[in-house]
Amino acid sequence: MVHTPINFCPRCGTPIQLKKKFGKVRPVCPSCGWMHFADPKVAAAVLVEQEGRVLLVRRVNKPFRGLWTLPAGFVDAEEDPASAAARECLEETGLTVRVTRVLEVIAGREHERGADFVIVYAAQVESGELAAADDADAADWFERSNLPPLAFKATHVVLEGRDRDGLRL
Ligand SMILES: [Zn+2]
Repeated sequence: MVHTPINFCPRCGTPIQLKKKFGKVRPVCPSCGWMHFADPKVAAAVLVEQEGRVLLVRRVNKPFRGLWTLPAGFVDAEEDPASAAARECLEETGLTVRVTRVLEVIAGREHERGADFVIVYAAQVESGELAAADDADAADWFERSNLPPLAFKATHVVLEGRDRDGLRL
């Protein structure tokens, strides 16, 4: 699947052609040989637990605007995904966290602008005052038995341990 439609070679400007290369149809430049590889988009999230409650943020953006999810965001090129997860948590909740371990890697792009896989880390609060910002308009602690409406299959998987394919969203 080609995520980004590319019409012209970014290196020499020649109209690209679609050719089967390395097992897939890819945009290829017939003039200079440049080839486009669609790389996966990677997101990182944190599951922060404290006194039996989990930290969630309410989404400002579409899709799933107004629903709750783990603090998360895209990993920048050359960024350690664990650092990205902690950075997103600080941006969205005001809390500085320490990432302790990888909990899960969840594959499967859920919507057009979504990630191809999400690396979910366990993390602990180190400092800070809870205050929503950035992509979140609310941040709060929830009992697992009393969760708000959740965004994203990955959130359901992490918090409820449910099989993604069995979900009704
Ligand atoms: Zn070219």
